[in-house]
Amino acid sequence: MKYLLVLLVLGFALWSLLARLRRGRGDDSGRSDGPGKGAATPATPVAMVECAHCGLHLPAADAVAEGPRLYCGDAHRRLGPAPPPL
Ligand SMILES: [Zn+2]
Repeated sequence: MKYLLVLLVLGFALWSLLARLRRGRGDDSGRSDGPGKGAATPATPVAMVECAHCGLHLPAADAVAEGPRLYCGDAHRRLGPAPPPL
């Protein structure tokens, strides 16, 4: 039982070390390419739309349309536009 805890701690230490090494390598390659040219940033900006029910902003490609209104999902499309605030 004692060895299980030791193994768990060693596993976590190894995992965090590997994660840090991988992240460090990614940062270095991004810096050598220059600022604003990281692999994580999308090449083209994504158009964002607002859900007519909850007001959530989401990519236009993920939105569900019903007539002129856009929703974040099928559930909110079925619920319809949000009622006006009191
Ligand atoms: Zn919504």
